[in-house]
Amino acid sequence: KEYPLALSPEDPNWNVDLVGIAPGPRMNATFVSLARNSDVWDMARSIRQVEDRFNRRYNYEWVFLNDEPFDDTFKKVTTSLVSGKTYYGEIPKEHWSFPKWIDQEKAQKVRQDMGDRKIIYGDSASYRHMCRFESGFFFRQPLMLNYEYYWRVEPSIELYCDIHYDPFRVMAEKGKKYSFVLSLYEYVETIKTLWDSTKKFIKNHPEHIAKDNSMGFLSDDNGDTYNNCHFWSNFEIGNLDWLRSKPYLDFFESLDQDGGFFYERWGDAPVHTIAASLLLNKSDIHFFNDIAYWHVPFTHCPTGEKTRLALQCHCNPNDNFDWKGYSCTSRFFDINGITKPEGYADQQD
Ligand code: GDP
Ligand code: MN
Repeated sequence: KEYPLALSPEDPNWNVDLVGIAPGPRMNATFVSLARNSDVWDMARSIRQVEDRFNRRYNYEWVFLNDEPFDDTFKKVTTSLVSGKTYYGEIPKEHWSFPKWIDQEKAQKVRQDMGDRKIIYGDSASYRHMCRFESGFFFRQPLMLNYEYYWRVEPSIELYCDIHYDPFRVMAEKGKKYSFVLSLYEYVETIKTLWDSTKKFIKNHPEHIAKDNSMGFLSDDNGDTYNNCHFWSNFEIGNLDWLRSKPYLDFFESLDQDGGFFYERWGDAPVHTIAASLLLNKSDIHFFNDIAYWHVPFTHCPTGEKTRLALQCHCNPNDNFDWKGYSCTSRFFDINGITKPEGYADQQD
């Protein structure tokens, strides 16, 4: 049977029989989760959601990464829940420590000061290692090298709708390199000099900047200042070969040298977002409206009642963050010239 790729329930050709079938060729792809042993039960909840709504019909593999060895409980529980094969990797120390050019005393003072100012995770060294790892190293772990696409899953997420097609196949067949479901403004205190570093990179590497880039998503003044918009990276489906490419690695290397992962608290979300927006063409970035998602405290609930009913969604459309004032998704639609879905105006603030 012919399976139309990613047909939306809003499409007149939609046929409800398309829900629940496990069609199409498999992609070279994996789920990937960075987690601590203590995350096991929150991870279990996420896996259950992903399996029920999608992976039980596809059985994609799942890679777990940790800066410490996974314990038996973590491995047993997650292996029992994932319908595909599971793999467990320990992150090498070089990918989870202070690079030699970082002034430890200065970094310590920053943590003290940001902690005193009650900036979220401001006092944490491990959170900074996590952000740097997700920015620059997860895609080069030995277990990840054989895959072309990844889907990042964090502990304690929810999926509210059936996923009626293979998102990896959408990425592959539409030639997408990066995708998102939620976007918002970053907390400025954590990235004060990230844009200065970005501008330095642009100056040093004009050859890496894509012709049809998404600077308009990042900046309201043609690149002079950053508007702090970012794709929320606790969900992402992306192309690993892109992250392993010279433009991305040069970008990460340049930021890493500037030290902001430790002297500030740069998140992997703005880092991935700036990279995707500048190094890729607009058409390489995809918004998955039909993947209904929650990570505390934001919800993406698909706009469009037909979609929500066809995909057996259990999210409240009023909780959808997409069109609220603090979301950047409207801006993404605008710069890409995409028509906003019917009913979006009812969901604004
Ligand atoms: P938040 O979503 O920004 O509040 O941060 P999380 O606590 O969810 O951390 C983001 C991801 O990194 C999650 O997948 C966590 O399980 C993982 N993570 C955070 N800190 C550590 C750590 O110290 N070690 C390991 N192995 N994973 C971590
Ligand atoms: Mn999280």
